[in-house]
Amino acid sequence: MSAHPATIAILGGGTAGWMAACLLAKAWPRTGITVIESPEIGIVGVGEGSTPQLKALFDTLGIAEADWMPAADATYKTGIAFHGWADDTPSYFHPFAGQIDLHTQDAFFASTRARRLGADVPAHPDRFFLNARLAAEGKSPIATPSFPFHIGYGYHFDAHKVGTILRDHALTRGVVHLARRVTDVAVVDGNVAHLSLDGGDTITADLFVDASGFRSVIAQGALGVPFRSFAGNLFADRAVVMPTPRAERLPVQTQATALSAGWAWDIPLTSRTGNGYVYSSRHLSADAAEAELRTHLGLLDADVSVRHLGMKVGRVEASWSANCLAIGLAQGFIEPLEATALHIVQATVESFIAAFACGGREAFNADVARRYEGIRDYIVAHYRLNRRSGDFWRENAANDDLSDDLKAIMSAWFTGRDVAAVIAARDLGGYYAPMSWEVLFAGYGTFPDRARLRPAAPVVDLAGIDRLLDGCLLNFPDHAAALARRMP
Ligand SMILES: Cc1cc2nc3c(=O)[nH]c(=O)nc-3n(C[C@H](O)[C@H](O)[C@H](O)COP(=O)(O)OP(=O)(O)OC[C@H]3O[C@@H](n4cnc5c(N)ncnc54)[C@H](O)[C@@H]3O)c2cc1C
Repeated sequence: MSAHPATIAILGGGTAGWMAACLLAKAWPRTGITVIESPEIGIVGVGEGSTPQLKALFDTLGIAEADWMPAADATYKTGIAFHGWADDTPSYFHPFAGQIDLHTQDAFFASTRARRLGADVPAHPDRFFLNARLAAEGKSPIATPSFPFHIGYGYHFDAHKVGTILRDHALTRGVVHLARRVTDVAVVDGNVAHLSLDGGDTITADLFVDASGFRSVIAQGALGVPFRSFAGNLFADRAVVMPTPRAERLPVQTQATALSAGWAWDIPLTSRTGNGYVYSSRHLSADAAEAELRTHLGLLDADVSVRHLGMKVGRVEASWSANCLAIGLAQGFIEPLEATALHIVQATVESFIAAFACGGREAFNADVARRYEGIRDYIVAHYRLNRRSGDFWRENAANDDLSDDLKAIMSAWFTGRDVAAVIAARDLGGYYAPMSWEVLFAGYGTFPDRARLRPAAPVVDLAGIDRLLDGCLLNFPDHAAALARRMP
């Protein structure tokens, strides 16, 4: 097999299609790459929160924050605040990891373990992590140059505008763009032979990338790649989306607020706030979901633009099938609670580039499948461990459709064992690190009932942690000041 295909046709000009075009053009500059997208179909137009992986993407492509953030109305993100997922523990923060956490997470783990074993010691995660403190104070994660530690952070951004930035970048790398609709996919001997376009032309290529969104025109459509649904343990299958004016003081966090049959996101951009309600259609009608989101936003009778979307939750059996790589929504989708979809796109394309050279299709497909399942388990844990009342929530808490990996992690937590050791033994740390898992358990107050805890002094130096984090905070400017510095 050649080290790279001579020609690639990418079907789809959503964020996934353009991300793939940029990464493939960088890795294989002599490959002819064409992106075909239908402006009439358009893009899904959501997907506006990222993990730190998006920073890695822009760094890899050599696109500076000053060049893309203002153009995409972007803000910084230090993590996600979860509100109302437990009746008796109002909120907690899931921070992106950074080097300072190495100085505080052992204290957090020691505290959670002591509390799991019955000692009444403080173990709420927010006190232990720098990114949680930055979020609480509305500070950006961009430290002064003398601050020596790496801080992990992501972004909020306008999906259409990021697509345009990636498209423009790809075009400067020689990628060809066709605004046409694909009307047919010809399959010969199990391989894609060509795409037929409206108006009569055809496109041939050595490799086809299916980035056609939930339609999955090539992978699930023409090639019939089976789809493995996650509906048994992730009930949310619809979303209603409703933007509101921008917040005056821009937060550095996504907010995920539990509602009656799912949760609402709040994503702050410099131009508007993105809001949506991800919910289960088995528990709530579209009209009731819209009314509930309007009430949540204080917009009950307001004239605002509203979009209703379906979500197909699960993954294709094989992301690389015949001469087709499926990415983005065409490949699979896990509901956006931790904003992982674009992270998976990037990981998929980068591992595909590595696997293509050595023909490692089976290992690649197994790795991608594992990634989906590793991320899915963390999302399932949010629902399984919720402590909120209401039918939807109690049904989730009682759902025993759990993977063996998730059962093993939960069992370690509930039996007072070392959660990190289980994650390491099962090689799961690449999806969510022990810090993230323990933050989730502790954030929901998953400890013995308070009445059964025995009085105890803290097992760690909490005042020392406060001093350390307070000192660090002095090195970080306000969010607004950091964004202003990114303006042209
Ligand atoms: C409610 C919701 C919230 C989300 N939140 C997040 C988040 O916070 N963070 C995150 O990382 N991800 C999130 N996602 C996922 C994210 O939106 C997608 O991963 C991302 O937008 C990429 O989508 P895509 O490019 O795969 O598909 P799309 O944006 O749907 O693009 C599909 C492309 O294929 C083209 N196409 C389809 N059929 C044809 C045809 N026959 N001919 C020509 N062109 C065709 C379309 O025109 C379009 O260009 C969310 C998703 C949903 C549903």
